[in-house]
Amino acid sequence: MLITDLIERKKQGESLSCEEINFFIKGYVEGIIPDYQATALLMAIWFKGMDSRETTDLTLSMTHSGDVIDLSEIPGIKVDKHSTGGVSDGTTLIVAPLVAACGGKVAKMSGRGLGHTGGTIDKLESIPGFCVNIGMKRFIEIVSETGLSLIGQDKELVPADKKLYALRDVTGTVDNISLIASSVMSKKIASGSNAIVLDIKTGNGAFMKKIGDSVRLAEVMVEIGKLAGRKTIGIVTDMNQPLGFSVGNALEVREAIEVLQGKHESHLKQVAFTLASRMLMISDICATESEAFEKLEDAIASGKALFKLAKMIEMQNGNPDVVSDISLLPQAAKKIGVKSDKKGYITAIETKNVGIAAMMLGAGREKKEDTVDPAVGIWLNKRHGDFVKAGEELAIFYVNETKNLDDSISVFKSAYKIGDKEPDELPLIYTVIEE
Ligand code: URA
Repeated sequence: MLITDLIERKKQGESLSCEEINFFIKGYVEGIIPDYQATALLMAIWFKGMDSRETTDLTLSMTHSGDVIDLSEIPGIKVDKHSTGGVSDGTTLIVAPLVAACGGKVAKMSGRGLGHTGGTIDKLESIPGFCVNIGMKRFIEIVSETGLSLIGQDKELVPADKKLYALRDVTGTVDNISLIASSVMSKKIASGSNAIVLDIKTGNGAFMKKIGDSVRLAEVMVEIGKLAGRKTIGIVTDMNQPLGFSVGNALEVREAIEVLQGKHESHLKQVAFTLASRMLMISDICATESEAFEKLEDAIASGKALFKLAKMIEMQNGNPDVVSDISLLPQAAKKIGVKSDKKGYITAIETKNVGIAAMMLGAGREKKEDTVDPAVGIWLNKRHGDFVKAGEELAIFYVNETKNLDDSISVFKSAYKIGDKEPDELPLIYTVIEE
């Protein structure tokens, strides 16, 4: 078999067989197929697409490029959740303790942030002492004992995705339904949970900007989950503005703790409850969404969910006192108010630019090798549809290093469109796709 034939055939819009897809993945992971040929094939896939059989074959081939985790030692249904990536999307930090407090088992491997999107592992590492590399044995012990553990992705988990995602990121081939679906689902299947709830973001801060594409992505991923024998639900949610108020690692941990303390009735809480309720239903703990919502509210009111978070932090060597004293989280040297130049309604927010502004402060990575500053970021005072006066603070910047501050402020301000007419409210949950 020749990789040049595969590239030529895909360029002509033909389907690749299972054997051809396996040949590509194996050859690329082993370094026999070089980056330039892999890029040519990825770009041909980007233009010509893959049918659902090819997408499933690609997913399974990637899944088996490395270890497949066995969680059968943990009794009951293990449920995972995944977001396709957004800005101020700290739902995992809320959802995992909530589900565990209601009797679910969440054994989740998460990733780091890249570009304008954040990653759960960076957020967790802002908790003093918290360890994300505890090894598989300890991971299984903690989930069995507390109902939740959040760790970094094992080095041997889906090596094909590690190589391919890094290549896609620099070759303009991320935003393709088959490539995103196979990347996400290969990791979810290899992570070993029996049930998966997917949060597919749509809008100007997401990889998929159009609702139609996001729904299609959700359908494809749910179908792959079904074919791989995992109960899978896809929920399409809005990313036309940052989900929460905070963008930055310690700030997002603080906001998640405040939601679990019952302090915020926010979009972040609504999306977290929607995801958590589906995780309880797919785990056979609740029969209906309203029953699940009641249980989740109780987990917050009783303090059970906050206790679960503290317990996991303690078992992963972090300081559990952060859940009652957020001043124990890393603190930035300066807080700077960023004011609006004019008055009016916030009619649109270019979400990606808010993420980029936070990244420029040091909260995220431009390149994989960059380090993040856990303390810095942005706390948003205004959301879509809010009225703002001239000179009123749009946000507070938490800053350590002032090198990029002016540029970051100007990128941030350019994200806000302010007009005279109050805009229509944005939808938050668009649709739920089930098998
Ligand atoms: N998240 C992933 O894990 N993979 C993609 O391709 C896009 C988002």
